[in-house]
Amino acid sequence: MHTQDVQKYFRTYLERNKYRATPERFDVLQAILSIKDHFDADELFLRMKNDGSKVSRATVYNTLDILTECAIVTRDHFGEKLARYELIYGNEPHHHIVCQSCGKIEEFIDKRVDRLARDAAQTMEYELQSGVLHIYGICSDCGSTSSRKESTK
Ligand SMILES: [Zn+2]
Ligand SMILES: [Zn+2]
Repeated sequence: MHTQDVQKYFRTYLERNKYRATPERFDVLQAILSIKDHFDADELFLRMKNDGSKVSRATVYNTLDILTECAIVTRDHFGEKLARYELIYGNEPHHHIVCQSCGKIEEFIDKRVDRLARDAAQTMEYELQSGVLHIYGICSDCGSTSSRKESTK
């Protein structure tokens, strides 16, 4: 994924929707591009602040709203109060499995799920916006015994 592509896409989106294309908004985007994981808004704000950015918390929050609107990032709660974000622009669609004990989020890619989401949306006559699957469970580190049970069958 090219940084310039996503910047150009963001700029076009801002202009079309009458948002001001301020340098701070592009700083927020830039900071997100360097994160490879799921993050929450305060984490992003603190990371930028530690890197010497003068951007305000409010700008981080409202830029995240716009970036979510135009699908550069997605926002998900993963079963918790705190919303977490991740960069999706230019990324392959992937699904999540979340440990409800330690909060770990793991990702997987499965074309069958993508196809299922598309088919279901088509059948129900919806325009598909997100076909991302979230699965909740307890990971093996936190004491899931399902793998052991299965092997004795
Ligand atoms: Zn766990
Ligand atoms: Zn993810």
